[in-house]
Amino acid sequence: MNKNTLPILPYGFDALEPYIDARTMEIHYTKHHQTYADKFNAALEKYPELFEKPPKDLLQDLSSVPQDIRIAVQNHGGGFVNHSFFWDCLAPKDVYALPSETLHKKLHDTFGSVDSFKEQFTSAALGLFGSGWTWLVQKENKIEIITTQNQDTPLSFGATPLLALDVWEHAYYLKHQNRRADYIRDWWNVVNWKKVEERMGL
Ligand code: MN
Repeated sequence: MNKNTLPILPYGFDALEPYIDARTMEIHYTKHHQTYADKFNAALEKYPELFEKPPKDLLQDLSSVPQDIRIAVQNHGGGFVNHSFFWDCLAPKDVYALPSETLHKKLHDTFGSVDSFKEQFTSAALGLFGSGWTWLVQKENKIEIITTQNQDTPLSFGATPLLALDVWEHAYYLKHQNRRADYIRDWWNVVNWKKVEERMGL
């Protein structure tokens, strides 16, 4: 039986300073993400055969998950998968700081301009009531911005995540307290655009 374990962070806790502080990264990864993994594993223990399935497959088809653990898989499995994805959306400033020409054009064609994409994404994140995520996703050859509540993942809605922003307060309150807008403004500095392009097959 292979329990689900956290991916290794591709950078140090302090690598995203000053935009995302080291203490927040450490707690977010070692406490929040770890707890999702632990509770996800605990839920699967009742049906050990599900450890053989990639977590993404379970979330893509929640109706196939036994009903008595479905909500736990949705919440904790979602939290496990979303955070694994989120770490890979980030990189130290200036490493992959700007979208390449191809991605630039794609964002331009869909949203009017890269700035307009950022504005629309930011506004979706600011408008999300409570805890959840803002995403750039691909669905049926179209890219679009969506939000999900709690730890729900676009995978459960037939969409492929391209970029994720965690807007739970645990992602920013140590440095930014309740100032979600400041956190989002800082977050744009550490987006790993190269990963977004890879996921789009560009
Ligand atoms: Mn989080």
